[in-house]
Parts: sequence; C-alpha cells; structure tokens
Amino acid sequence: MNPKIYLSSPHMGGQESEFVSEAFNNNWIAPLGPNVDGFEKDLQVYSGVAHAAALSSGTAAIHLALIILGVNRGDEVLVSSFTFSGSINPIVYQGAIPVMVDSENDTWNIDPELLEEAILDRISKTGKLPKALILVHLYGMPAKLNEIIAVCKKYEVPIIEDAAEALGSSYNGKKLGSFGDLSIYSFNGNKIITTSGGGALLSNNEVWVTKSRFLATQARDSAPHYQHSEIGYNYRMSNIVAGIGRGQMLVLDEWVSKRRAINKWYHKKLAKVDGLSFLTEPDNRYFSNFWLTTIEVDPNTCSADRETIRLALQKANIESRPLWKPMHLQPVFSKYPSYVSGVAQRLFEQGLCLPSGSNMTDEERSHIQDVLSDVFS
Ligand SMILES: *Cc1c(COP(=O)(O)O)cnc(C)c1O
Repeated sequence: MNPKIYLSSPHMGGQESEFVSEAFNNNWIAPLGPNVDGFEKDLQVYSGVAHAAALSSGTAAIHLALIILGVNRGDEVLVSSFTFSGSINPIVYQGAIPVMVDSENDTWNIDPELLEEAILDRISKTGKLPKALILVHLYGMPAKLNEIIAVCKKYEVPIIEDAAEALGSSYNGKKLGSFGDLSIYSFNGNKIITTSGGGALLSNNEVWVTKSRFLATQARDSAPHYQHSEIGYNYRMSNIVAGIGRGQMLVLDEWVSKRRAINKWYHKKLAKVDGLSFLTEPDNRYFSNFWLTTIEVDPNTCSADRETIRLALQKANIESRPLWKPMHLQPVFSKYPSYVSGVAQRLFEQGLCLPSGSNMTDEERSHIQDVLSDVFS
C-alpha cells in the first residue's frame, strides 16, 4: 500500500526552524517576543490591514472579536450556516444566539438576499438588530462581498470576516481579511499555512486590536501587582509558534500558486465527467487560494455518486471528505434560528473535498488520477 495521501498536510518552506532556533538561542520561550511582533508585522503588510494580534487559534480570534463588538447574553449574531463549527461556537461562548443563513450557488458562501431577509425578520421578531455578521469565505472562495457589505452597511451590522480558510485569496485585488470591521485568520495544521496551531485578529481600529491583546493576556491592568477589572483569557500566541509563522509567510504566495495549479489540474482531468462540477471563481474579481479543491456530484447524471468516489479513494489510502455539514443541521445548533434555502444541505449531500496539499508530489497526483479514472470508467 502506498503511503497515505492527505487532504491538506503541513508544508514547511525551510526557514521556519531558523526563526524557532533563534527563539531558543535567546530564551524567548514565552507568549511574547520578537517572533510574535515580527509575525504580526508580516500579517499587516500582507493583508494591508493596519493592526494584527497573533493569538492561540482562529476560534479565539472570533471570540475576542465578538467581545470587542459588545456581544453579550441574549444578543443575536448572524453567521453562514455552511462553515466549520469554529466560526459559530464562540457566539455560544458569549451566551449569544447564532442566526444561521444559507449559501448561494456561485460561491457557496452566505446568500446576500437571504441575509437581508434574515435581518428584516429578526428586527420584526425581536425588535432588535443582530449585533454582528460572521462572514465566512469557505474553501478560500471570496463571498459576494459587494452585495454583502451593501446589506450590512444599510442596516449598520458590523462584519467579523472569518478568513480562516482564505489567507492569500483576494477580491477586486484586495486581500481577504481586509474587508471586515474585524477579521480573523487561522494557522491550524491543515490550513494554507500553519504554525501547528494559531490564529490572528486584524483590524484598522487600533483601539480594538490593543484591547484584544489585553483580553488575550488575562486582562491584566497596568499595576506592579496582578490586578484585574475585567475577565480575561489566555489566548496569546507563543514566540516559538510565531517563529513557524514567520517562516511560513515567506512561502505563502508560492503555496497559493501550487494549490491553484492543483485545482487547474483536477479541472483538466475531470472535465469530461458528466454530472460533476467544481466550485469556480464566478468572475475575475474573485481570486481564490483554492485551499481545497471541491466538487459537486449530481447523482442523477454522474456515473458515480459522492460516496462511491470517496470510498474508492479511501480504499486506495487517499483522503477525501464530504463538504462541511451545515450548522443548522448539527444537533447542537438545530434549536437556533436559521434561514434556509437548501443549498448548503445539497452541497453537504453531494460535495467532496479532494486532496489539495501544496506538497503533493507528481507520483501522488498520478495515483489519484488512476483511482478517479477507474471510478468514472
Ligand atoms: C479552521 C477554521 C476556524 C477556526 O480556526 P482554528 O484556528 O482551528 O480555531 C474558523 N472558521 C473556519 C471557516 C475554519 O476553517
């Protein structure tokens, strides 16, 4: 049996260990230090956002963003239903209520029309505006930003941009992560770049980012002793981990190119398969990092259904995975309000993520090709 081919595995560029060694040599083994400062600077320069705080995870970054926007018990927060649970869990940490909105077919991200419908319905049912929108760019594909921003402006709903999967993607030439009032990235092990685990919160509002660093270090007041006037968290990134991040930033654009090339390769290889379609950029404003290549398989017109493809790959020791199960269908979130068109459920039932790692070898590609050719022959 060949070694396992993963969906997306860590891919080091080479210089990460130098930044980490430097931290060891200078005994900067702490949740602060030159690598943390350097990584934050790198993220600011790359994204074009003025301020960044390096944190322990993307989930922690969303949690702090919600606190900074004043989300409290009983408040409502809009969120894409088609996402990973890390986008939505922090709403519940705050005792707030997630209001889930379905996707549209072009980008698979939140549907701007349904979003407006949801806002109007929440106002009529509760007499209050939702406190924020957590806007997700799934699989690296930019959401319909013009339309979504217009709706949020109209009702004055602030945007927390969840760009956990979308570092390196852009819209109208502007990097994702620069559109939200606050934005987050994730550097978990399977993301486009990784620090083994980590995240960041970004904003052009300096007061907010300063506040996030304060909350992330146990909300310690300025005093010689330990004094606290607020509840804090232990959410800061360590100087070791940030060293990996600095090294990864040196290869980010190269890794994006590799993922895009893999996406192109799948398109070419599977172009002739009936009933199989790809998530593609709707027009030239959209630039996806293609973190994962994703397909939808119509069981009525395709010679194989999604599960047949997945199990054939699994048998050959190749990892693939159904698309995210929508949050409104998750047992833990089904009791909360949702605005559903059925798009995300259909994608969950018919969609598949294919191996897309930037470190995929030619040999691995041809192995995947053999299995797929077999399935569709
Ligand atoms: C990974 C991910 C998160 C959470 O990031 P962590 O660093 O794993 O906490 C949030 N939202 C989306 C869409 C993600 O893919």
